[in-house]
Amino acid sequence: MSAGFPDFRLGTVLATSFTGTLSERQGDAVERIPTPRRLIDWLAVYGLAVDSCTTAQLDLAKELRESIHAVATAAALQDALPASAVQVINDRSTQGRASAVLTPGGERRWQLSPTSPVEDALGVIAADAISVVAGERDGKLALCASPTCRAAFFDTSRSRTRRWCDMNTCGNRQKKARFQANRRGTPGSAG
Ligand SMILES: [Zn+2]
Repeated sequence: MSAGFPDFRLGTVLATSFTGTLSERQGDAVERIPTPRRLIDWLAVYGLAVDSCTTAQLDLAKELRESIHAVATAAALQDALPASAVQVINDRSTQGRASAVLTPGGERRWQLSPTSPVEDALGVIAADAISVVAGERDGKLALCASPTCRAAFFDTSRSRTRRWCDMNTCGNRQKKARFQANRRGTPGSAG
């Protein structure tokens, strides 16, 4: 189904999963939504189904993604939030017109307008980023310990000591690297 494109890394937090569509930002970056079609696929996974997407809308999405990344990184470092990135997030949030509706089964579903579904979906993502950065949700923004990644992720572990954006990728790689370093033996260390 991904037709040769990089797979998605699916997290449980919408906003930081979205920033994760560009991974290995400090190494060989992997673009996971290289085409409008892949953005459509990604949105569908998160219950934001749209029928079509233009390259201009993909650009809008990437602008929002990089803005969320910049703001979440600053928040994790307890730095001042970059004003231009905050503006982009606020613009997407205020221009989105999605409605949350409750299904008979008690689940939330997003209803997007027929005229601007992609913008509405981006509005939902922007609003999610706002709630995360504003500290309205149980968790803490942190940066991935992998030096080639440094993704901002939302740590919802009880102890707030999660180190990697994704256990299956960054966490595993780090563990393997440490294991190999130990096997080689570090000079001057007892092992
Ligand atoms: Zn990572």
